[in-house]
Amino acid sequence: MTRRIAVVGAGMAAARFAERFQALGGDAEVTLYGAEPRPPYNRVLLADVLTGRYAADDLTLPAGEAQLRTGCEVTALDVVAHTLRLADGTQVPYDELVLATGAGPVVPAGVAAAERAAVPYVVRTADDCEALAAAAARARRAVVIGGGVLGVSVARALASRGLRVTIVHQAPHLVERALDGAAGELLRRGLAALGVETRTGSTVRAVHGDGRVGLSDGQTLDAGLVVAACGVRPRTALARAAGLPVRTGVVVDDRLSCAPGVYAIGDCAEHRGRAHGTAGAAWEQADVLAARLSGAAPDAAYAGSRPYARLSAGPLEYAAFGDPAAGEDAAADGVDVLRIADATRGAYKKLVLRGDRIAGAILLGDLATVGALARAYERDEPVPADPFHLLTSQGAS
Ligand SMILES: Cc1cc2nc3c(=O)[nH]c(=O)nc-3n(C[C@H](O)[C@H](O)[C@H](O)COP(=O)(O)OP(=O)(O)OC[C@H]3O[C@@H](n4cnc5c(N)ncnc54)[C@H](O)[C@@H]3O)c2cc1C
Repeated sequence: MTRRIAVVGAGMAAARFAERFQALGGDAEVTLYGAEPRPPYNRVLLADVLTGRYAADDLTLPAGEAQLRTGCEVTALDVVAHTLRLADGTQVPYDELVLATGAGPVVPAGVAAAERAAVPYVVRTADDCEALAAAAARARRAVVIGGGVLGVSVARALASRGLRVTIVHQAPHLVERALDGAAGELLRRGLAALGVETRTGSTVRAVHGDGRVGLSDGQTLDAGLVVAACGVRPRTALARAAGLPVRTGVVVDDRLSCAPGVYAIGDCAEHRGRAHGTAGAAWEQADVLAARLSGAAPDAAYAGSRPYARLSAGPLEYAAFGDPAAGEDAAADGVDVLRIADATRGAYKKLVLRGDRIAGAILLGDLATVGALARAYERDEPVPADPFHLLTSQGAS
């Protein structure tokens, strides 16, 4: 009988797994069960659905020849009987199970309790983006709660549609998980030039039905449109109910397995204590699992992914690798730091070296060397004799 692999979720990790499994000559019937009404798509580019650069249908991803069940939510797993239950009550048997349920947006408690008419928009699915784009067409002002990678990207997209946008961010500077204070400040100025105001060290306490937003410092903003971009939480309810190991995410080992014949990849997975929440990690995990299950590399192991964040938004480009705080106290950290700052051009570059390896790096405003830097970082290669070449195409200056 043909071997059956069921994949719960039809997002970025699932599509990549299915595509690689087939490319590697895997012999099984692979079925993707996706709750969303459309085939897998590139979620990373959703902010450009908001800007109008892409239609949601332009973002479709290949998924090999896997069977695709869209609009098909899996409501329960029985990992002993090897069956899953669908929302219409059908029970489906499988031989191996891959969980790729992704993550869901977090809406802070005070904001979630907003008056009904003003519950904030979130940006996780193409449908979310289309709803937000329609609302943005009727609004003049927006408040984006959260100034991380997603919040900045959404704020920039709304500003490009002519809205006056305020980002309310709890931390002392923007994108603090990927950028240091200097880069965060340049990003703030870049956003200001696009019509986006940033309020750091501030939280939203209440969202009122008339569109007003109350802040922790007692001030009130007129919003019209409120978007919550406050992070994500792995979707683990199915796994937990099935008795699979769950902490922040579904806990997997280096084989990406959480129980015999059951695997988890992408945003729903927790590996070595980390739930990555990035497309790069989701794809690396999908590649390892496809290599194992197709038989192309049955002993392939996932050793973790190195932190990497990138925004490509016209003048507001940045790429950040590793720990943003690395090198802030170079002597204590035992690292060497190279920095190039060009405030007039809005460019800032930093390379943190531990010995001859890259511990962290930031490129903001000029990404000419991002390819070489990303390669050296991802492969953990020794840096060239003149490491300035990783920051500027002109070499040392
Ligand atoms: C606007 C935006 C911008 C982003 N930008 C970046 C970026 O620049 N760089 C980066 O690395 N990452 C970025 N990300 C994160 C990236 O999209 C995710 O890391 C990636 O999508 C993870 O893939 P996944 O397959 O694990 O989850 P998802 O792509 O979220 O797919 C999970 C799918 O599973 C489905 N599902 C869940 N439960 C069930 C169920 N019970 N039954 C059936 N289906 C189910 C969901 O509906 C969803 O379609 C961004 C995310 C967003 C929203």
